This record gives sequence, C-alpha cells and structure tokens, in this order.
Amino acid sequence: MAEAGSFADRVKQQADIVRVIGEYLRLKKSGQNFTGLCPFHGEKTPSFAVHPVKQIFHCFGCGKGGDVFTFVMEMEKCPFPEAVRMVAEKCGIPIPRPKERTPEERKENQQRSALIEMHREAQSFFVKQLETTAEGKAARAYLEDRGMDMETIARFGIGYAPAGGDILFRYLKQKYAEKLLAESGLLSRGDGGRAFDRFRRRITFPIANESGKIIAFGCRALGDDQPKYLNSPESPIYSKSGVLYHLDRAKDALRRQDFAVLVEGYMDAIAVARAGISNVVASCGTSLAEPQIKLLGRFTKRVIVNYDPDVAGQAATERSISLLLENDFEVRVLALPPIGEKKADPDLFIREKGPEAYIKALKDSPPYVDYLIDRTRKMDLTTGEGKLRAVNFLLPYVQKIPNRILRSEWATRISQQLRIDEPVLRAALTKAAAERRSEVKTQPQLVGKAAKPIERRLIRMLVEAEGFRRELAQRLQEGRLYVGLETEKIFAATIVAALSEHPAPATEVGALLEERDRRLFFEILFEEAHEGTWEEAESCLEALRGRQVEKELALVQREIEKNPGGPAMRELLARKQELLKKRAV
Ligand SMILES: [Zn+2]
Repeated sequence: MAEAGSFADRVKQQADIVRVIGEYLRLKKSGQNFTGLCPFHGEKTPSFAVHPVKQIFHCFGCGKGGDVFTFVMEMEKCPFPEAVRMVAEKCGIPIPRPKERTPEERKENQQRSALIEMHREAQSFFVKQLETTAEGKAARAYLEDRGMDMETIARFGIGYAPAGGDILFRYLKQKYAEKLLAESGLLSRGDGGRAFDRFRRRITFPIANESGKIIAFGCRALGDDQPKYLNSPESPIYSKSGVLYHLDRAKDALRRQDFAVLVEGYMDAIAVARAGISNVVASCGTSLAEPQIKLLGRFTKRVIVNYDPDVAGQAATERSISLLLENDFEVRVLALPPIGEKKADPDLFIREKGPEAYIKALKDSPPYVDYLIDRTRKMDLTTGEGKLRAVNFLLPYVQKIPNRILRSEWATRISQQLRIDEPVLRAALTKAAAERRSEVKTQPQLVGKAAKPIERRLIRMLVEAEGFRRELAQRLQEGRLYVGLETEKIFAATIVAALSEHPAPATEVGALLEERDRRLFFEILFEEAHEGTWEEAESCLEALRGRQVEKELALVQREIEKNPGGPAMRELLARKQELLKKRAV
C-alpha cells in the first residue's frame, strides 16, 4: 500500500509502531518483542505482539496483524489515507497539502466547495426564517407541539423554508451562478424553465456528511402538502445511499458504545438522540443501502434496528437484516409495542412513554432470530404447508449466517419454536448453507496450520536473510521444492518478493495471502529465532529434497505393487533404483 517514495512510505519509515500502538494499549517488553492484551478480541493473557524491528504486529489469538497503518485503520475504523494522516500527526510529521492532478479535478473540487458553501448559506437562511418571520412562528408552534423546544431546534439546526416560491433562489442568486444553483438540488424548474425553490412551506432538517458538512436537506411538509417528506435530490455532493443522518454527531458514541441504533427518519433520530442515546443514525428512507452499511461498519458491527412498525417498515427491517448479516453485523431488532390503537415509531413512543421506557425497550430488544421467529408465529403453523412456508421465510436469513455454529443454534431454536422435526429442518438448512457456499468469503480458521520446522525456517530466511535470500529463492524455485507443501502459497509469495529488485516488506507479502496463510506467515515471523546461515539454509533445502524423493519413492512403489507384471515395470524399477540412490546420498 505504501508506495516507495510516497508520503505514506515516508511516514512508515519514520513512525515507531511500538510508540503508536503504545498509545492505545499497554505494551511490555518480552524478548525481542513487545506484548500486550489484544484490543481486537477480549482476552486476559496477552497474545498480541509488536515487533519493533520489522515494525509489524500480530495477535496469536484472533489472527489480526499488519503494519502501523493496518493497526490504526482497525482501531479507528478509518480508511488508509486517514490512517496515514493520523500516524503522521502522532509522530509530528508535516502533512503535505493534497495536489489536484488534473484541471478537471480542480474544477470539480471547486464546484464541490462552492456547493457546500451554498448549503451553509441556505442553512442560515432557513434558520433565520424560522426564528424571525411570521410564517416561521407558525412552524415553531408546530415543532413545539411535537415536543421540540428551542434548545432542540438549535441543536439539530432545524429551520423553515417559506411558502413564497423563490425567496431562497433570489437570495442565493446574488452570489452564485445559475448553473451552479441548478446543480445544488435546492431549486426546481417550472414550465418554461423558470427556477423556484424546491422546498416551500416545509420544516428543514440539515443532512450532514460524515465530517459534519451540510450537503442536503430533508424537509417535512408543515400542512397537508404532499409529499409529506421531501429530500434533496442526488447532487455532486450528496448521494442518498452513502449518507447516514446524524452519523457526524454519533461517531464518538458509536465507538464508545460499540453499537448503533438504526431508525428510519430524521425525526426519529432526533427523538432518540434527545433521549440520551447519541449513537443513533437514520437511513433516511425505508431501505438501507449497501454503502450506508459499509460506512456504519467502520464504526461498529452491532446494530439495533428500530424501524416503523407499519408494513413498509417491517419489509424494510427484514431487508436490512439480510444486508446487515451479509456484512457480518450482529443484529437485534426493536419492535415497539403499539400505544393504544396507534403503532409506535420511536418519536411517538418516546413522546408518550418517556426516554427511560425507550432505553429499557432498547436493552430488552431481542436478537433478530427471535424477531423473525416471532414473525412466523403469525403464520398458520397447524398444517405442514404452513410450517413449510414459515421455514421458507426463515431460510434465506439462515443462508446468510457465515458462522456454522450459529447456524446450528438457529436450527435448534427454529425446530423448538415452530415444532418442526429437527433432523428434517437440519437437512434443509444444510442444503441452504451449501447453496450459499459458492458466494461466501472464506472464513478465518480458528487455528493456523502447523507447518514443519524446516519450512518455517526457510520462510523466515527468505524474508530476513538479506545476504542470501535471493540465492535461496532461486534454489527453491529451480527444484520446485516447495510445491505440494502446506506452506506452498507462503513460499510462492516470499520467493517472488525475494527475487524482486526491491524486496517488498513482510506486511505487503502478508497482504497477498489468504487469511489462514497470512496468520501462519505472521506467526513464523514472530517466532524467537536465531539468525539463519547459508549452511543452515542448504541443509533445509537438502531435507526438502529428501522429502520429495521419499514421496516419489512411495508413489513408484505403489505403482509397482499395483501391477507387478505390467508393461511399465522395467521403467518403474529403474526409477526406484535411481530414487534409492538419491536417498542414500
Ligand atoms: Zn486478538
């Protein structure tokens, strides 16, 4: 990732991984390494190691490992460039200003900045309308009626878009070109191309991106105007599927609490945040999109879904569960009980029952499994057909659970709850799981494979023995000595690195490997070991050759025994003699 000569590369050269990681957890010197309690999985005895010379870390418990950037990315749930910036800051390395590469890029950046600036101005305009105009007063009354005091209005930047028709347009026109205004999503065009305000007679809710910059508005009709909710359209700065409402303010709480409350709309998010639960985000629309899930996943992998209890909300809940499971989230579902006759969304529930009742409901919210089973209870389960329908409703979710043990627990639960014969159900589940297999990512294995000491030594020397690793790589390649070994893929990657003009650092070689090989590779790098010599390397190569001979000998012997009088017998016997001679050397 860190290209030679790049800023990232320079940061990596200068940063001290022990110091950076030491800011997050207590490290103790232990032999050549530093060890501590792994921050990525719960543990009581340290299995997390940092190597000061190689500048890498590895956890022998959960298998996480990499360089200083990998660590910061995992800890801060941030993308690579952000990690580079953070490490640079921690180490006092000055950060160069990003350069735009092409004139188009510069133009786009300018356009984006201008649009963000325009949204800031629109925001002050809406707020002022709410605060100072007669129309705004009516809007305030409506908000107060919904339990929103001035403090809340100020905290969430709630404003008002007047009924006039083109008041905002005329205001912004003084400063911005009409072409840019057209891109902003703040205007609409009527017959004859006349521009007017997109939002009229509506309460406005600013929608900010992750870093708190306003990039769009969500607006609710004040009267009975349709549609009830109207949002900004997609624009150069706003993509609906990539934004979560309130995320900019929820970030810290998400990290601290390590779970998110997911609601449908901004009114719900505001109500929940006001109840003291700041780790709430809204999908702003009934369907949660993949980019939104990826975004959330940078902060936490645990979610309580609390959508509206209506049919649309239920469908959205089920769709969200699917998507979240696919992205390895731990999901719980809060389905609020109705209040009297009325179905309760979070906003209504908190207004009627108070924050404490909501917090309690949140705490008691069941895992999605129970929620889904509960949904099937409403189906007719007295007939075989009905049961089949219930199982078919549940199966797609089971298919999405990557973990085999969890899947098995599900099976037991479903069979108990729905009174379905367990073996029959298990067969269906196994089939479902098998159908899924082709699309599943390989799951990290719990145990690395145990490679033979010779292989471990050779890999270590390929990485570290600067004096002879090239020669060693050539020998291994010529004799194809590593082919067929458990560690074949690790050898292949380290040989390529050792043969290259500028051997890649170990972390980059590791990055090329699949999870289980990468684990083993890091384990090997962390073993206490003496420095290798060419003599040792040669004797290891010899041992591999010996193994190769043994293997072939066994194969030839089997052939001979299989068909003693066969036509190839002479050749086989000759080959056997050759191999025996080789073995004797
Ligand atoms: Zn760990």
